[in-house]
Amino acid sequence: MKLTIGVLAVQGDVREHAATLTALGADVVAVRRPGEVEQIDGLVIPGGESTVMDKLVRAFDLQEPLRKRIADGLPTLGSCAGMIMLADRIADARPDQQTLGGIDMTVRRNAFGRQVDSFETDLDYAGLDEPVHAVFIRAPWVDEAGAGVEVLARVGEGPAAGRIVAVRQGNLMATSFHPEVGGDRRIHAEFVRIVENARESA
Ligand code: GLN
Repeated sequence: MKLTIGVLAVQGDVREHAATLTALGADVVAVRRPGEVEQIDGLVIPGGESTVMDKLVRAFDLQEPLRKRIADGLPTLGSCAGMIMLADRIADARPDQQTLGGIDMTVRRNAFGRQVDSFETDLDYAGLDEPVHAVFIRAPWVDEAGAGVEVLARVGEGPAAGRIVAVRQGNLMATSFHPEVGGDRRIHAEFVRIVENARESA
């Protein structure tokens, strides 16, 4: 049976994730209503603006169902704003900003600063033979990660060298950058394997 993977579609760059997941053979569902949260085997939370995404998630009554499924082990991939949504703690949050949580980490919003708003670099990535060409757009980084969090990638060079930009904890994965941009499907493919394994062991 095909995997059904949801893309949270309240705000942000939904289309590129959906296209990548479709190319990898998944059935893709745009998640905008609580009922859709129940139908999916995995979830992608795209980049966008986490403060807006948080407000809309609450306005559409998605916060509780999403928190519950994520806490129950729903495989979830968050990129950029999606990484912020998966963080248990945020640095530089808006005063009333909330997350869905799930990964024991503190994520700093807009961490790379105004001068380097957006940039691209090659990253060594755990489990992948060739580096990942990563596109960062007003990206967060991980200030600190708990003992149960596996670090998958750090920035290699420049002023931000050593900063954590990709992590995994159980079935949850998050990247500071945009793996849906540029046609490299390896990170999504790894995520699809996590979704497959979770469904087989359910
Ligand atoms: N700066 C954005 C935020 O705080 C994230 C940017 C992105 O997702 N490209 O949500």
